[in-house]
Amino acid sequence: MNGQMMQLPLLISSLIVHAERHHGGAEVVSRRVEGDIHRTTYREIASRSRRMAKALAALGVKTSDRIATLAWNGYRHLELYYAVSGSGAVLHTVNPRLHPDQVVYIADHAEDQVLFFDLSFLPLIQAIAGRTKTIRHFVAMTDRAHMPADAKIPNLLCYEELVESQDDRYEWPLLDENLASSLCYTSGTTGNPKGVLYSHRSTLLHTFAIALPDSLNCSASDSILPVVPMFHVNAWGLPYAACMTGAKLVFPGAGLDGKSLYELFESEKVTVSAGVPTVWQGLLGYVEQNGLKFSTMRRTVIGGSACPPAMLRKFGDEYDVHVLHAWGMTEMSPVGTVASFKAGQKDLPPDERYAVMAKQGRAVYGVDMKIVGGDGKELPWGGAESGDLHVRGPWIVSEYFKGEGGDPLAYVDGQGWFPTGDVARIDSDGFMLITDRSKDVIKSGGEWIGSIDLENIAMAHPAVAMAACIAAFHPKWDERPLLVVMKKPGAEVTKEQLLAFYEGKIAKWWTPDDVVFVDAIPLGATGKMQKNKLREMLKDYKLPTA
Ligand code: AMP
Repeated sequence: MNGQMMQLPLLISSLIVHAERHHGGAEVVSRRVEGDIHRTTYREIASRSRRMAKALAALGVKTSDRIATLAWNGYRHLELYYAVSGSGAVLHTVNPRLHPDQVVYIADHAEDQVLFFDLSFLPLIQAIAGRTKTIRHFVAMTDRAHMPADAKIPNLLCYEELVESQDDRYEWPLLDENLASSLCYTSGTTGNPKGVLYSHRSTLLHTFAIALPDSLNCSASDSILPVVPMFHVNAWGLPYAACMTGAKLVFPGAGLDGKSLYELFESEKVTVSAGVPTVWQGLLGYVEQNGLKFSTMRRTVIGGSACPPAMLRKFGDEYDVHVLHAWGMTEMSPVGTVASFKAGQKDLPPDERYAVMAKQGRAVYGVDMKIVGGDGKELPWGGAESGDLHVRGPWIVSEYFKGEGGDPLAYVDGQGWFPTGDVARIDSDGFMLITDRSKDVIKSGGEWIGSIDLENIAMAHPAVAMAACIAAFHPKWDERPLLVVMKKPGAEVTKEQLLAFYEGKIAKWWTPDDVVFVDAIPLGATGKMQKNKLREMLKDYKLPTA
């Protein structure tokens, strides 16, 4: 016997419909790349999203077509979140910090049809415009008055003209909830960037989960400022959760320095924020130097990289801001765990309380996790044992876009689990602590640097026999690339020459911070470089930039 409840699909459009109907007057405030502060409401965003959905149809966009954005956090980007996904197309948010060659690779791989961009990315668009294979239209996210003159971009359109070209009489289509809704590429695995394709259903379930009080804790009385970019796993889902709960949204645009952020926190009475540790370092530095306080901010979500314990304490003891340390991945939509207290933990002595908060946290409902040993068998919780962290759940990837990289899942007893590439311990209360990373990529300021790309370039140098790139600790960026080089017999090359060899081949910030020359690089049984051994060998190494 089936239940007798309505069968309404879980659709992204339902979020903006809800926000318009029940929180129509709630504000969305953005610092624009044009320079000013822009104010609007969910009512207006909903209307403009419908007009943009119609404009996309008029451009010939069909169900499941990929529509790319290269954009900061702002109200137009939010409108695209709903216009694109809501109408059945796939919103592909591209990371503008990538090298133009990688942006071209990703746009071609995704077969993007239209690319929307903020004006600050004009040079990047000019660098890629003649090279991408499938993009039919480039749309500058601005009005006619700010359109770039003589931009030399084929089929350049103006965002506001597209909105104005249509009225808002549009019914969101009743889609299958399993339809793809958005796409985000991650370099967080080895090889080329891989696409993670979210569905309406996975997004909605994730939104319910992150809004919960012990999760990211969003409510209609909050003013939420996501510093985490909308191109980094949909700003961790906050643009959806804000519509679901009716919270005010504040977007920082390109102003990510301490001063610009602080001004917005104060003027917009921000209560909740979210971002990677590097951003908070800049903000705390500014606040400290100027003897300021936060008058309304009470919680901030920190994740993407481990939150340093000193930062937890500084926020808590000096500014009365509670840090929610969270862990997740692009492959997990992204939220997996949040370090929020269980009964009694809030009243622990400070050292013990902060020790709980320093862990990556406990699984939010919907995510199951376990640690496994080298034999693939599950390890017990509560002990000292670390193992490979595996996860499963309805908002966790089952395969990468276009089957890239084969089947990523590990199967035990017929059940598929996603191996995260993180190594962790889980305590008896279910709090997970990341102890290492088994994947080889380097995470600098919350952004991936592909070690293989760096190694391939070094190996192309005539004096290099073998090169490995590993993460070295950096107090500001968390990790920076360190190049370990074994020279060819008799060959000579200096550190400066090797670093100069990277110029023009990669984004500048990917260049290794230092080079260490070794007599041999340890190899495993299959001839692979054993980077875990190198990491162990160099664990006390201090970068000159640190
Ligand atoms: P991304 O797909 O770019 O979101 O990166 C996901 C990866 O970032 C995870 O697999 C971890 O290696 C790392 N990561 C994310 N959050 C944390 C955290 N709170 N502490 C330590 N590492 C983290």
